[in-house]
Amino acid sequence: KPHLTNRAPISGVIAAQARKRILAKTRGNYPAPLKALEVVVAGLAASHAQSLANERREFINLAMGEPAANLIRVFFLQERAKKLAVDSPEKSVKVGRAMVVGAGFMGSGIAQWLSARGLRVVLKDVGPEPLGKGMQAIARLYRDAVKRRIFTEAEARAGFDRILPVFEDIPLRDVDLVIEAAVEKLDLKRQIFRELEGKVPSCQVLATNTSALSIDAIAGDMAHPEKVVGIHFFSPVHRMQLVEIVQGPRTSPVALASAVQLAKAIGKLPVLVKDSPGFLVNRILLPYMIEAVRMFQEGYSIERIDRLMLDFGMPTGPLGLADEVGLDVAAHVAVDLVQRLPHLPPVNDVLPRMIERGWLGRKSGQGFYDYQTKGKKALNPQLNDFQALQAPQVDDAELRDRLVLLMVNEAVRGLQEGVVTAPEDVDFGMIMGTGWAPFRGGPISYADSTGLPAVVARLQELQKRVGDYFAPCALLAEKAARGERFYSPPPGPESRPDRPPQT
Ligand code: NAD
Repeated sequence: KPHLTNRAPISGVIAAQARKRILAKTRGNYPAPLKALEVVVAGLAASHAQSLANERREFINLAMGEPAANLIRVFFLQERAKKLAVDSPEKSVKVGRAMVVGAGFMGSGIAQWLSARGLRVVLKDVGPEPLGKGMQAIARLYRDAVKRRIFTEAEARAGFDRILPVFEDIPLRDVDLVIEAAVEKLDLKRQIFRELEGKVPSCQVLATNTSALSIDAIAGDMAHPEKVVGIHFFSPVHRMQLVEIVQGPRTSPVALASAVQLAKAIGKLPVLVKDSPGFLVNRILLPYMIEAVRMFQEGYSIERIDRLMLDFGMPTGPLGLADEVGLDVAAHVAVDLVQRLPHLPPVNDVLPRMIERGWLGRKSGQGFYDYQTKGKKALNPQLNDFQALQAPQVDDAELRDRLVLLMVNEAVRGLQEGVVTAPEDVDFGMIMGTGWAPFRGGPISYADSTGLPAVVARLQELQKRVGDYFAPCALLAEKAARGERFYSPPPGPESRPDRPPQT
């Protein structure tokens, strides 16, 4: 006798509930959970053999679909990153002891990660107070990891004990590699690197975690600028697998190879990028945030802007993301990036005015959203005079394309300018660094599957309607005109002749 919940009408009610919850989580972007539910429900009224046949058919359909192809590809892109190697005539440095300069938010996160992976770490800051704060943050990270059963108590203690906090100069003979994560100021970083040269003369790799400064400018007039390389971690360090390894024009092969080697040794996934404004990920992500703030000022609602991007498959909407990053940080990085890349959308005055009111995003309790009621994210109710009363009426697709195609265009421009060498690097970097809709395969893959001529036409339309900054970049226009794609053979199911007909 079947269980009550397996019979109509209760089974129907449960299935409808489950469907709702799946859709709330996947926004309809991941077909597999819905199909699984469908198969289970159909099985209630079918024979065993029929159910198995059903399951097999749907499984095959899903496995041949585009989301599955793209997700499988993400796996292979990760494997590809694990195999990244840089040629160097000298053997790359094996890091046993590292020094981390700056015990702030990033420095403490990096020191914790390195120590957890068995490295000894000298953690340096300017005084006992910032150092104490950093060590507390590290202790918290270890405590959380123990709670989540990533480490035993003993492992966590051993990891913590591998960190030597210092604020005074101590002899540093056996440091193999330095990662600087002090505040984002060029003069300060230049000074730190000049001093490092004298303090750890035998060290061949001096890395910076800068988000946006030029590696070459940081190396400045050092006697050995070839030692300087970028190792750009993403925040939070213990969650984000991607690191950008930044090659300056004077970076030595051994410094570069060692940085890649270190990233792999500590279980991160490296992508090699050229020393250029915003490197890879921020260069593509920032314009998206700038455009979202422009759209907000034009009068489109925060909910609509963020919802569209969540529906597209981004883990956070762009305005919610700005709140997470911190509006002060976002504003600073945006202004700096647009100065260096004048083709990007102009930055408006919304963020500076919000910052003036003390709204810095989540960390201050208010930004585009209000975080003051615990557990609830409401809209900031005082934002009315920051935006036009009435926005022009446009459909969702136009707003979505303004945000998405701006990223696509910038992604291609990154390729055009040699920020990275392969489309795979772009897609991998955006998926791993920002959670960019993985089931779409990344921005370049998305452009391919949309069709480059369609992307170009849409950008040109937006250029006319919205602003010149939508002008398609040369590489995109050329490829579209020649009828080419970025990936060949194309990723996704259309390349497979044996693909079953779609229903
Ligand atoms: P932070 O302000 O939290 O920490 C900076 C630390 O550097 C402070 O503890 C400060 O006392 C210390 N410091 C200042 N001068 C120093 C010196 N001369 N020697 C040693 N320590 C010194 O900043 P943060 O957010 O951790 O950022 C650090 C670096 O990482 C910046 O270059 C930033 O651009 C980069 N970064 C930040 C993020 C992020 O999300 N916050 C992400 C990637 C990269």
